[in-house]
Formats: sequence, C-alpha cells, structure tokens
Amino acid sequence: MSSVLSRLWRARGSLSSPSSTTTETLVVYLSRALSTSSVNSGIEEVKAGASSSLSLNKPLLLRRDPKGRHVQWVFLGCPGVGKGTYASRLSNMLGVPHIATGDLVRDELASSGPLASQLSEIVSQGKLVSDEIIIDLLSKRLEAGDAKGESGFILDGFPRTIRQAEILEGVTDIDLVINLKLREEALLAKCLGRRICSECGKNYNIACIDIKGENGNPGMYMAPLPPPPHCASKLITRSDDTEEVVKERLRIYNEMSQPVEDFYRSRGKLLEFDLPGGIPESWPKLLQALNLENHEDKQTVAA
Ligand code: ADP
Repeated sequence: MSSVLSRLWRARGSLSSPSSTTTETLVVYLSRALSTSSVNSGIEEVKAGASSSLSLNKPLLLRRDPKGRHVQWVFLGCPGVGKGTYASRLSNMLGVPHIATGDLVRDELASSGPLASQLSEIVSQGKLVSDEIIIDLLSKRLEAGDAKGESGFILDGFPRTIRQAEILEGVTDIDLVINLKLREEALLAKCLGRRICSECGKNYNIACIDIKGENGNPGMYMAPLPPPPHCASKLITRSDDTEEVVKERLRIYNEMSQPVEDFYRSRGKLLEFDLPGGIPESWPKLLQALNLENHEDKQTVAA
C-alpha cells in the first residue's frame, strides 16, 4: 500500500491544478474507490490472443486477482469505433459496470451543475476535459458504485492521456486493455450516423458502411443498426457528432490518446482487436479473442 501511495503522490504532483489540496483529495478518492472491490468474477482464467486478427506483443493471461476481485478492463479506440457497444455487452456478460467517462461528462452537462457551462464549451469543440475534472467525475462514479456494492469495471474513454494512464496504473492493476481498431473511412460515417434513444439511452446507427475492396485491400460492410419501433420516434444525435467536431476528436485522439496505447503495449496489457465488420461479425470474434464463451447470447444486435 505504501508504494501505491507514494506513486499517487508523484502522480498528484504532475497534475496541473489550481489547488493541490483538491487534486490530492481526488486521487486518494480514486484510489479508495478502486481498492474496495472484492467480489469474485467467476472467470478463472482468460487467455487472450486466440484470433489471427490479433497481435499481442506477449502472451497475456488474465487471472482472478489474489483478492478475488472482479475484472478491471479498459477499452481504447478512436471516436466512433464502437467502444461503448462492446464494453456494454461485455459488462452485461461479466457482471461488472460499464463506466464511460463520456457519459459522465454528458450527465454532468445535462444536470446543469456548476461545471456544465465550462464542459459544454470544451465538448462542443471536441477538446478533452482537464485530467482533474475527469478524475473527479470518475471518482464520484466509482464511489457511488461502491456504495451500491459494485465491483470491478470496464472503463470506456478513460484513460485518454498519458497522465490519466499513469494515475490509473498508480492506483490499481488494470488486467487488460482492449484496443479496438476500425478503418478510418468508417469512423466518421459511424459518428455521423449515430442516433441515441432519448428515453432508454441505447445507441443505434443509420449509416450503411460499404467499403469496396481495392488494391488488394478487403472490402468491409457494416449494416445499419436501426432502432426498434418504441425508440424510433425518440432518437437524438450527440451535439459533438458533427463532421467538424468529429474530425477534431479524431485529431485529438491521434495526438493525445494514441500514446496511451503505447503505454499499455509496453506493459504487456494491450490486446489489439481489428473489427472485421459490424456487431454480427465482430462480437463472436471478440469473445473468441478473449477466450470467453457466450452460452446464452440473448442480446439483440443493438447493444
Ligand atoms: P468519443 O466518441 O470521442 O470517444 P466520448 O463519449 O468518450 O467521446 O467523450 C465525449 C467527450 O467527453 C470527449 O470529447 C471529451 O470532451 C470528454 N471526455 C470523455 N472522456 C474523457 C477523458 N478521459 N479525458 C478528457 N476528456 C474526456
């Protein structure tokens, strides 16, 4: 514990904050929230690297933590790649919460809390929220989950900077980082086609992606993901899913978040997964890559 704490102090020092006391409290808060998980995952051992579409720089064995805690996984990937879809499906399957920091930011915006106007400007420009604010939101979410007896997590959208990755690595030992990859031509179309049900929050997509194979490169088809009738009249688009803002988000991802891939790659935690197409093709392959079996996949293709 003392080494974790000293790493926390170092991480705290690297955060640019107007108030060091606040940051110190936040990081300790995050640490506490992360260290209290204690329920078994039911997954004895998961071996990653089974699929030919994957490349792991070394074999990765995911074992149940000695304390018997739930899995702690992270999803990385460009805007529009489908992190939310696959993270949410896996969280249902593994019985751990899916925590998307983008959702936390949008919840804060919707609540019109004290941070709302500041966040609105940042998000509408496709920029990243400060490390301090995002850690504050994440800490509160983890604390609230802990109070409800939640354990483990699948993080989506965090960490997005090296500093966030260092802080997270300082407070807990992430088991696995799944790096979802999709051809660039599809990313913009997927963001522009995204539709969300304002009532149930489920994501759909009206884009039909049909990339023709050429010059030896294979084609790719991703069918639209239409909403069921009860959601169809309640669809909204995210305010940051405009062409200009998506391009800026993609630029920022490449600049700020791609180094996070290297961070985890060098620690042997990164599982690269090239999405072969839409959910029907990709989901079984992802499960295979994780050596997970979905005995009763009763979910529809809409995650
Ligand atoms: P994307 O589709 O671009 O991956 P998200 O839904 O994950 O978007 O996040 C929406 C916005 O919330 C981001 O553009 C950013 O402003 C903010 N955000 C989410 N997670 C983080 C983070 N870890 N660090 C900084 N900003 C974040």
